[in-house]
Amino acid sequence: MTEAFSLDRQGKTVAAARPLIDPFGRGITYLRVSVTDRCDFRCVYCMSEQMTFLPKRDLLTLEELDRLCSAFVARGVKKLRLTGGEPLVRRDIMVLFRSLSRHLASGALGELTLTTNGSQLSRFAAELAESGVKRINISLDTLDAEKFRAVTRWGELDKVMAGIDAAQAAGLHVKINAVALKSVNEDEIPALMEWAHGRSMDLSLIEVMPLGDIEPERVDQYLPLSLVRARLASRYNLEDIDYRTGGPARYVRIKETGGRLGFITPLTHNFCEGCNRVRVTCTGTLYMCLGQEDAADLRAPLRASEADQLLQAAIDEAISRKPKGHDFVIDRRTQRPALARHMNVTGG
Ligand code: SAM
Ligand code: SF4
Repeated sequence: MTEAFSLDRQGKTVAAARPLIDPFGRGITYLRVSVTDRCDFRCVYCMSEQMTFLPKRDLLTLEELDRLCSAFVARGVKKLRLTGGEPLVRRDIMVLFRSLSRHLASGALGELTLTTNGSQLSRFAAELAESGVKRINISLDTLDAEKFRAVTRWGELDKVMAGIDAAQAAGLHVKINAVALKSVNEDEIPALMEWAHGRSMDLSLIEVMPLGDIEPERVDQYLPLSLVRARLASRYNLEDIDYRTGGPARYVRIKETGGRLGFITPLTHNFCEGCNRVRVTCTGTLYMCLGQEDAADLRAPLRASEADQLLQAAIDEAISRKPKGHDFVIDRRTQRPALARHMNVTGG
């Protein structure tokens, strides 16, 4: 068998000889890593208020996370997104950003980025920029402080706003992600968009996905983006554009604001045919699809040897099982969540 990768003298993976291609011919070039399942918010669509988190002893260390990410970079992964839970509440997380930035410097990695709720950004924005992070996603569903508190249960809008200011002051390009929520922010979407575009930020809207048991009924939260788009089209000129960021969003340009609006539509328009992503949890479990249960343990092969052969073999085996796609459904007849796991386990 041809070697799937090259090794340096310490037995570490150093170069891609063979990229990661799944059974449907899709190249895997994008890795999302949930560095912690913990969070300082309890968003109503993401978590229940009483969550049981993973025991800290089960977590990969920052060094192990670095090794895992580097093994994927060596196989042709070009985009790395750290997420969570809230990635910025993981202790010493900047150590990981700084060490991963060597792959940007070498050219092996094209982009290092994160998704954050913004609560800790005032503290970390400058360091993120120094580590080579250029663009970040900040999740924000409403500009109304009371509503914000109700949606996040524990969050404070002021802190997130200060975080956005700090990110822009540090030169980071910010994209705002908002989950479209029936009766919560549906009337506010035009205002949220005009605010984001007024600050030179793209806005992406996300359909709520049936991941994990939460107290509210999913069907009461779900707002199809096909409906949102039709409503926006009666008020603005929407022009389809080819802009892509490597993720699943499909963008339009709003003529009136000049800004970009993205639609992430796992329910109304399945985008799996172009999927280039896999996800790793903070315990080293690899999910080949956000919408399926199948997973592969990478922690055991990672810890079994200091060289990366076992790890690379486990990654190959897992990618050979990447499914064609997910089949999310939200309706009154489908009472159970599609998957038991909450979104904070795998990250967005
Ligand atoms: N804590 C960070 C944040 O909120 O940005 C990163 C992790 S969070 C799980 C990533 C993204 O997933 C957020 O934009 C969040 O709004 C979104 N999200 C969480 N639960 C979701 C669900 N059930 N359906 C759709 N999006 C969800
Ligand atoms: Fe935390 Fe992000 Fe989930 Fe909200 S969406 S509870 S901020 S992990």
